[in-house]
Amino acid sequence: MGHTVMTYGKQRRNGQRTKFGNLTYAAEREVFLGKKARRWNEPLSMIDAREILTRCGLADWVTKRVPGSEGHGWCRKADKTIGLGSHAPTWIVIHEAAHALSPTLGHNATFRMWYVALVRQEMGDYWAERLTLAFKRHGLKVATPTTNEGEQS
Ligand SMILES: [Zn+2]
Repeated sequence: MGHTVMTYGKQRRNGQRTKFGNLTYAAEREVFLGKKARRWNEPLSMIDAREILTRCGLADWVTKRVPGSEGHGWCRKADKTIGLGSHAPTWIVIHEAAHALSPTLGHNATFRMWYVALVRQEMGDYWAERLTLAFKRHGLKVATPTTNEGEQS
């Protein structure tokens, strides 16, 4: 699938309001922008976001609010920083946490493995299954702990 934009923040920096940066975005939005997912799509306080990150094993990461980036987020491994827009909801925090836990940046099968695992931990089996099925519908692989990194998409 070639080059992918890593984060929502970067995706918007050129002023492009792209529909979906890639298929991973398309799948997650199908799941988390639906009515049933409303509670997971509420803006989180920084305290709540930090609690999620701590439960994900990322207590030593820095979080920062990114003015103007609304519901979006980004992850920067170099200085262990996760940026969150003022309306970033639970699933975005988890998306960025999955980047932080993946060995490489990008939306590959290992990223999706972490994403599903963290969704299961924070939201429960129902949403983890919904997300897994959405990835499958889009032809996206989800790694298991023993598989190699898949293609980015
Ligand atoms: Zn991402």
